[in-house]
Amino acid sequence: MSVQVNRRAVLAGLLLAGAATAGAPIPPGPGGRALADVRALWGDEAVVVRGTSSLVAGHRAPAGLLGDLARRADLAGRRVSAVLRRPVRPVVLVPASTAAAARLAGVASVDGLAAVADGGRTIVVPEFFARLTPTGRDVVLTHELTHVAAGTGGLPVWLYEGFADYVAYRDAGLPVGVAAAELAAEVRAGRLPLALPGPADFGLRAGGTRLARAYQEAWLACRFLAERSGEETLVRLYGEAQTGGVERALASLGLSTGMLTERWRDYVREQLA
Ligand SMILES: [Zn+2]
Repeated sequence: MSVQVNRRAVLAGLLLAGAATAGAPIPPGPGGRALADVRALWGDEAVVVRGTSSLVAGHRAPAGLLGDLARRADLAGRRVSAVLRRPVRPVVLVPASTAAAARLAGVASVDGLAAVADGGRTIVVPEFFARLTPTGRDVVLTHELTHVAAGTGGLPVWLYEGFADYVAYRDAGLPVGVAAAELAAEVRAGRLPLALPGPADFGLRAGGTRLARAYQEAWLACRFLAERSGEETLVRLYGEAQTGGVERALASLGLSTGMLTERWRDYVREQLA
């Protein structure tokens, strides 16, 4: 098993059927490659399966996987669409191997990740994705599809990772203390996070438990905003922060990052203590 551990380690035994990890901060990568490029890449070996709204393309993928993915991508699309209130058409690519997934995403490595968002598409990392439970697959696909559909440009990491998990967990049917188990353990031990998680907290070097907590902290910040001001307001804040910056967007809700941090800490305590 890779020494790289990441946010989905929190879900071991819950979303993960095995000991693998899944999901990650979005790696930088070239954007905008279209499915046509994949046709060019995989030629006649590309197999395309269409869901009701999704398109899944695989290269030497197991027979059942593409159909399963199309159904799950449709579900993920409906979940993202319900929050963003506009149609979402997922495009999911399934390369033949972990190495091929990294090449496709234009990054050095995707080891330990189940899927990555890149250039309008979700790229599944077959070996790691296969180790997720059904709920884990839906959560990961919805998380990555949220990145694809809503964008992340100009945003603090807590907002785009938290928003993606807000959408991913919104309809996943998991209790908050279960989905945020690592953070709950900290809170019960009397340790509350001091600040919203930043880039270093989301780095793979942050280590498994810290990384898991970073996602959970970010998730609860967005969940707090949705409960305080309404989901539509959270979505509007997300869009406004992309164009005008997060402080200005928060100010329209009568908040600053400092005030949000204070109230989020109370919310974390109240939800997880
Ligand atoms: Zn993410």
